[in-house]
Amino acid sequence: MKPRAIRGMNDILPDVSATWQHLESVITDVVQSYGYSEIRLPLLEQTELFARSIGEVTDIVEKEMYTFQDRNGESLTLRPEATAGVVRAGISNGLLHNQRQKLWTMGPMFRYEKPQKGRYRQFYQFDVEALGFEGPDVDAELIIMCARMWRALGISRIELEVNSLGTADARDRYRETLVEYFSGVKSQLDEDSIRRLEQNPLRILDSKNPEMRTVVAAAPVMLDFLDEESAEHFQSLKGLLDAAGISYKVNPRLVRGLDYYSRTVFEWVTDALGAQGAVCSGGRYDGLVEKLGGRPTPAVGWAMGIERFVALFEVCGGKAPASDADVYVVAVGHGTLERAFSIVEELRDRIDGVRVEMNLGGGSFKSQMKRADKSNAEYALILGEQELADGRIGLKPLRSVEDQSSIAFDELAEKLAKLVGKA
Ligand code: ATP
Ligand code: MG
Repeated sequence: MKPRAIRGMNDILPDVSATWQHLESVITDVVQSYGYSEIRLPLLEQTELFARSIGEVTDIVEKEMYTFQDRNGESLTLRPEATAGVVRAGISNGLLHNQRQKLWTMGPMFRYEKPQKGRYRQFYQFDVEALGFEGPDVDAELIIMCARMWRALGISRIELEVNSLGTADARDRYRETLVEYFSGVKSQLDEDSIRRLEQNPLRILDSKNPEMRTVVAAAPVMLDFLDEESAEHFQSLKGLLDAAGISYKVNPRLVRGLDYYSRTVFEWVTDALGAQGAVCSGGRYDGLVEKLGGRPTPAVGWAMGIERFVALFEVCGGKAPASDADVYVVAVGHGTLERAFSIVEELRDRIDGVRVEMNLGGGSFKSQMKRADKSNAEYALILGEQELADGRIGLKPLRSVEDQSSIAFDELAEKLAKLVGKA
């Protein structure tokens, strides 16, 4: 029996990983250019951390976590998202005492969801968090940063939705009205929503059930309940986005799935990927650090789903730069392999970024040339016994009809650098 992969957990194969690497390097460069630094975190945390931060009455905590007992009986969970771990690390390492932090991290997240296009059980996120900043300037910066990434990658079919959830007090007042409203239309609610009516009515607004759309659309909106300071915060954020030329839509029904958000929430959505349209989601979570045992610390961040980001990049016509070899080295005859190895090491030393592929496993001239052709390399370098004796090497263009030429060993690096555009 062949081994099989776990459902909803994908292998990222070499033909696809080139695109992933490209996107990851572009977004890393962008966030670093705004002064964000990388933090690398464990994939496992105590279950309690996620239950407390994400909220007991959420899809994630109710039914999506990969939770198991460690050998010593402790309950551990594979991280379903990154924010809780970032905040935990900030507290446990004392990073938040009289300091502000701008952090990014990247890696796999785990949720036991129903696998489908754009929704997996192991998926990857790029995550950015700013801790210790009140905003709304940093809220705007985080959004402007996303817009720069889209531009850098030629991504067009994406729109920004923003909303404000106010403070916890303001949400309490809103919650009462919401419970009143949903109780009045209880017969139209699905099972999940009826359960949430008692515990977390805001989450009903985030329902993915299409049959709930009409009731949700007619519900009272949080924006009418905003406290004065949050209203001002939101107003300033919109002003900063306007000034930066970022277009957005205020979506008063945007609440985000997790409990910990306050004030600013936003989502970059696309219509190009079918049902799974949320590419990058974020918001402010001013109460979370304190809730997890740190000093009160305002914070805001976003998380981007890399699979959806890759898919959108491709829909928009994006392609990773080719990663084929520049040259393929063919060596036939006594003593040629040893010399070829020293030549290619020198090429790698002297030509920055050159991609050289050695023919491995020997073979006749003909079979080596076949592999050279298949490698998609631009040139073959050919070393036979005669060339070795003459101190020269053959250079054959593989993608044009030009003739083979012969180059002295000591001129090779310079000539090749020019030919492959890496001089
Ligand atoms: P959705 O509404 O699609 O369920 P979410 O609100 O659960 O998303 P977040 O928890 O905010 O998503 O995660 C941030 C981003 O991670 C999402 O915008 C999305 O791009 C991506 N994402 C979330 N869950 C998955 C998943 N199961 N598979 C692939 N990507 C995901
Ligand atoms: Mg979800």
